[in-house]
Amino acid sequence: MEHKLTCIICPNGCELVYDDRKDKVSGNLCPRGEMFAKQEILDPHRMVTALVKTKFSSTPVVSVRLNQKIKKKDIAKVMKAIDEMIINKKMKMGEVIIKDVADLKGIDVILTKDVE
Ligand code: SF4
Repeated sequence: MEHKLTCIICPNGCELVYDDRKDKVSGNLCPRGEMFAKQEILDPHRMVTALVKTKFSSTPVVSVRLNQKIKKKDIAKVMKAIDEMIINKKMKMGEVIIKDVADLKGIDVILTKDVE
């Protein structure tokens, strides 16, 4: 089966085709496009950002991100864990609010803003 996708690694935006029967990528102007296409089709990862509730009326929600990209299939359970979290103490940007979120070893949720 052929999969069509646009490479987002650089502004050229090459139109790629990945043929999974031949494990071959075409349309790429450089090797990074081949790596991008194979990962995107075979094992896609995403960076997750979100908002977390706090108990403070001055900052009712605060922005967070993960410390690294995660597999696309794990996004729903990570978002559920983040949605269930309520911050109840003052914290600083960069602090970890959930370690190994959703039992994903090494994946932490980090504040990107102070909780004041
Ligand atoms: S294949 Fe290479 S040149 Fe083309 S968009 Fe991707 S990174 Fe850029």
